[in-house]
Amino acid sequence: MVPARPGPLRANPGLTFIGDGSTVPGMADPVSQELFAAARKRMPGGVNSPVRAFGPVGGDPVFVDSASGYTLVGADGTEYVDYVGSWGPMILGHAHPDVVAAVQDAATRGTSYGAPTRGETAMAERIQGAHPHMEMVRLVSSGTEAVMGALRLARGYTGRDVVVKTVGGYHGGADYLLVKAGSGLATLGEPDSAGIPAPIAATTGTIHYNDIEGVRAIFDAQGPRIAAVILEPIAGNMGCVPADPAWLAELRRLTTEHGALLIFDEVMSCFRVAYGGAQERYGVTPDLTCLGKVVGGGLPVGAYGGPEAIMSKVAPLGPVYQAGTLSGNPLAVAAGSTTLDLLRREGTYERLEVLGDRLQTMLRDAAAKHGVPCTVQGVGAMLTCFFTDKGPVRGWPDADACDRDAFARWHGRLLENGVYWPPSQFEAAFPSLAHDDDALATTERAFDAAFAALA
Ligand SMILES: *Cc1c(COP(=O)(O)O)cnc(C)c1O
Repeated sequence: MVPARPGPLRANPGLTFIGDGSTVPGMADPVSQELFAAARKRMPGGVNSPVRAFGPVGGDPVFVDSASGYTLVGADGTEYVDYVGSWGPMILGHAHPDVVAAVQDAATRGTSYGAPTRGETAMAERIQGAHPHMEMVRLVSSGTEAVMGALRLARGYTGRDVVVKTVGGYHGGADYLLVKAGSGLATLGEPDSAGIPAPIAATTGTIHYNDIEGVRAIFDAQGPRIAAVILEPIAGNMGCVPADPAWLAELRRLTTEHGALLIFDEVMSCFRVAYGGAQERYGVTPDLTCLGKVVGGGLPVGAYGGPEAIMSKVAPLGPVYQAGTLSGNPLAVAAGSTTLDLLRREGTYERLEVLGDRLQTMLRDAAAKHGVPCTVQGVGAMLTCFFTDKGPVRGWPDADACDRDAFARWHGRLLENGVYWPPSQFEAAFPSLAHDDDALATTERAFDAAFAALA
């Protein structure tokens, strides 16, 4: 077993992807290995999104031929119980028949028009129904785009330049958010990727997740320059880390006091932790909300929105430009609206809550049985098993202290035992409504084998 390379220390774990492409016997099947070798010749790292390359756990990724319900079918025909769910969107399970039918039906009427459709308004109404403050919504094609649109709007609306993010928070690929903390947290940031001009990174400030003093310090230092604070109200991109209600309350208070906007990036948490997302669970209303993942039901949809007073600054109503050839695409909107309608059914979120709790309990029990120290955290149907003996993970410094090698070995054993878990310590696992008792039984056996291998 080649241990996973920890990779350079990054403020943003979404970037710890630099794999050496080495092959770990027993991890990927020979068919996937061959496919990966061919893919690496034509695409950087053989993938179109870095974490798919399995860099953080070492070894080659499993190539996927199809998926249905909770099952992912690998290129060699091996079936896995899937906890990646396309990194969040597949909350109904894969290839849900109603979603497939809606997409097929839409496709027969044309795949894109570049003109407004009834479906977009119906989708915007559903989104507003779930997030009352989103009086007006702009549909886009990814979470990254939603965040970029919301931040340009925040800057245009406030006439200020600085945005504040959390260390370990991931908000997609925008230049000014791929930023790590500068010399002090109350100062502005430095680029966390090549290709980002330092002056752009210097418009981003960073705070630690759940750190109330940090919020106060950056508002003391930069208050009049801050256009917005953006955060995941339940962090999922350093593993699952819930926010302290007191920290959120202080953010709400200080942004209002200083005339900055509070932006909730609910790309991962929307329609997952509750129909109304983390803002419903916490009872905190942001100024702008960004959506993605589940909202598109597995097709490319993102959205941002807020009160009419702010959203009316967006073009063509206002001076803040933002556009997209495929925005509000009819196939994507059909998949999204169908998914949201299915999620509205009675008992959905109760079931997801029970499922998440059962998985957390299974992890704790298996870890305890084999004497492996870990901290299991989750909210509803998103969860992470942190390989640490230091107790709760409240922010990136705690997450960063986890044992990546132990996680990588554990991950490899899960895969061998038919469970496809996110291939990084710093990602949340996503069970779906399709995960049934059979799926959980396979998962329980795999947890037992994987923790046994670490003991
Ligand atoms: C996934 C994610 C994004 C980026 O969304 P894409 O659709 O991958 O561009 C942004 N913010 C959060 C919180 C995410 O989890």
